[in-house]
Amino acid sequence: MITVKNIAKDFGKNKVLKGINLTIDEGKVTAIVGPNGSGKTTLIKTILGLVRPTAGTIEVDGAEVKDDYLYRNKIGYMPQIARYPENLTGSEIISLIKSIRESSFYSDEEMRASFKLDREMEKPFKNLSGGTKQKISALIAFAFNPKIIILDEPTAGLDPISSSYFKDLVLKQKGQKKTIILTSHLMNEVQELSEEIVFLLEGEIKFKGSVKSLLEDKKETKLERAIAELMNQSNN
Ligand code: ADP
Repeated sequence: MITVKNIAKDFGKNKVLKGINLTIDEGKVTAIVGPNGSGKTTLIKTILGLVRPTAGTIEVDGAEVKDDYLYRNKIGYMPQIARYPENLTGSEIISLIKSIRESSFYSDEEMRASFKLDREMEKPFKNLSGGTKQKISALIAFAFNPKIIILDEPTAGLDPISSSYFKDLVLKQKGQKKTIILTSHLMNEVQELSEEIVFLLEGEIKFKGSVKSLLEDKKETKLERAIAELMNQSNN
């Protein structure tokens, strides 16, 4: 379980997160949604230890993450844009990460085959299409069997077949009691994958609860409409 307590983040005068309180449960997919610039990536990066909060604490499985980087061994992260050394091939990047990461587990054969990655893994990263870079990034996020999986806009740039396979992969991981955090602008994807939803607006949580309760509350069947109503309410 991840517990976020009173997290604030200022970038200079820009108050990007304004006292976020959140618990993220095991065995569920929690979606963080909100318009561009609302602080989703910053929130994710505070959990990853890539952004230091101005105030507040984060606990992963009961331990405060502040100065303990080892908890990151539990996390698989797929960033919005994959950036790896450009001249290395996918295979070389994976060998490099394997040598750094303290995990004895690595299994990517099924994913490589389903994403049709085998030939692509031997080309320099800089020569790959955006979608292929995403697939390699997914491989790195999932293949170490992490307990916590953080996915920032994971299907952006994936073709429909790969995207559909990717979603099956997320559902399979959920079945294995993983803690999964997802950001997406695709509300049908969020509705398909997530039980819990956090709606962030200008650095504040405007809704947190189950997707089901939000739909019931707004008397909608489509999440997109329920979120639009939340936005309208918040702007009034
Ligand atoms: P979202 O993921 O919801 O689109 P972000 O968390 O990426 O939002 O950004 C929220 C705000 O924080 C934006 O105004 C952005 O410009 C600002 N921001 C993010 N990272 C930095 C940074 N490293 N330095 C300064 N400002 C940043």
